[in-house]
Amino acid sequence: MSRVIVIGAGAGGLATAARLAVKGHAVQLFEASPHVGGKLATYRRDGFAFDTGPSLFTLPAVYRDLFMKTGRPLEEEVDLQEVEPAFGYHFADGTTATVPGVDPARCAMALHDAFGGDTGSQWRALMDRAGQMWRLTRRPFLQSPLAGWRTLLPLAKPADVRTIAPWSTLRGLGRSMLSDPRAVTLLDRYATYTGSDPRKAPAVLATVPYVEQEFGVWHLGGGLGTLADALHRRCIERGVDVRTSVDVTEVTTNQAGVTGVVADGAHHECDVVVSGIDAGVLYSDLLHDERAIKAARSIDRTDPSLAGFVLLLALRGRTPGLQHHNVWFPEDYDAEFDAIFGRAPRPVEDPAIYVCSPDDPQMRPDSDHESWFVLINAPRHDPAGGVDWTSPGLAEGYAQRILDLLAQRGVDVRDRVLWHEWRSPADLERTARAPGGSIYGTASNGPRAAFARPTNASPIPGLFLVGGSSHPGGGLPLVGMGAEITASLVGRG
Ligand SMILES: Cc1cc2nc3c(=O)[nH]c(=O)nc-3n(C[C@H](O)[C@H](O)[C@H](O)COP(=O)(O)OP(=O)(O)OC[C@H]3O[C@@H](n4cnc5c(N)ncnc54)[C@H](O)[C@@H]3O)c2cc1C
Repeated sequence: MSRVIVIGAGAGGLATAARLAVKGHAVQLFEASPHVGGKLATYRRDGFAFDTGPSLFTLPAVYRDLFMKTGRPLEEEVDLQEVEPAFGYHFADGTTATVPGVDPARCAMALHDAFGGDTGSQWRALMDRAGQMWRLTRRPFLQSPLAGWRTLLPLAKPADVRTIAPWSTLRGLGRSMLSDPRAVTLLDRYATYTGSDPRKAPAVLATVPYVEQEFGVWHLGGGLGTLADALHRRCIERGVDVRTSVDVTEVTTNQAGVTGVVADGAHHECDVVVSGIDAGVLYSDLLHDERAIKAARSIDRTDPSLAGFVLLLALRGRTPGLQHHNVWFPEDYDAEFDAIFGRAPRPVEDPAIYVCSPDDPQMRPDSDHESWFVLINAPRHDPAGGVDWTSPGLAEGYAQRILDLLAQRGVDVRDRVLWHEWRSPADLERTARAPGGSIYGTASNGPRAAFARPTNASPIPGLFLVGGSSHPGGGLPLVGMGAEITASLVGRG
């Protein structure tokens, strides 16, 4: 049994703490903010509720496994609801595709109905290929500790390598398998689920829509923040000592490995530290150890994930034709990625607009109102060399622009807004300590990006990493998989 300190009560930190506690370790969890959950949060005001981080829950199997192995099933802890239909996609030419929440065949049919031509059969073929990619990569890559390029060895059969096509981008795959440009745009969007640019992200990200369509799109009654509450409860029940408003400022080490952490000025000794915070911050700011230098440098060489501009709208009345998840695409989607990842980052002038409006009685005052969580991909907060999201008037002006753009795209809600609030990348940096307000840590831009992501076992004995900025990456399913890997590494000889 080890004395373990987990830093950060995001989804990864909480999940790892619960797993380690049931293995018999003595676990303390230190969280800097007054709340647990990190990015995973639901904001409530005047009877309206908004998920301000994750709004789309996929691959519940990951959290089913966690809850089952630490006590009771997930379904007894949260109100898991299948979303049907899941998405309304609106394109610049006026086409709308209403896509079901589960079943690749039905999704293909929906795309055929929207776009015509061969889109249905092409999408089926794409999802078949993505399914093969998923089966090839899930165990050796997503569910294993990363071992650099060696991780690819089990995939070494030429046919398998051809399926993964590590040299292809998601855009390249889309263009080679889909003839309708709107279907390519739809596939492109999934690169942003890992904070990336579809023109650079690997083709294997086609597994993201595959997982969504094969295993379903889910909502949690009352908001996805209820998952953070459930994880917190599970930690407490398993004896984790969860302390909020405790800021860890240093991870202490000696030649043999970690010795503890400094939090609020006091040194806390332990045998194992699990860091659930941003990996770059851990290696650059919290460690004063030569073994951390190389890891910090390698993170510096990667592209950070894109950030997000969030607009919360409390609306009077109901919007006809609205689905749970809605996207309005711009005419020129590439301009969005140029603005975010290009040499002169700037707020996207004509962005894709995502709106999540759950038809959930627990998330609106009554059935005559709607709570809209609007998310726009955005460049990071970078006052030194990019966008300073705290510049007076910038964020409020951008919020108004989004409302105007929605009106231009045929959804004018301006006279129905009871109140609105926004969260810029600078706010996410401040509240969840996500550098620059990056949503997912590092982006998957380039074939080597996944291997440049920090590994779960650090170069310092006794120090482990979990969460969106370490292997296997961001988003609730991958963070949950990372927690399982990290918990399995602790105490291994
Ligand atoms: C706007 C937005 C939309 C998203 N949408 C989705 C979605 O639809 N679906 C999905 O699956 N994922 C989505 N994600 C991604 C998902 O939220 C994250 O990948 C996941 O929640 C990250 O978990 P984490 O374990 O990395 O911890 P984080 O949420 O990053 O939390 C880290 C915690 O560590 C704490 N901390 C930091 N430094 C210290 C310190 N020195 N001492 C103590 N505590 C510290 C922070 O306060 C924070 O609570 C979204 C994220 C955002 C921001």
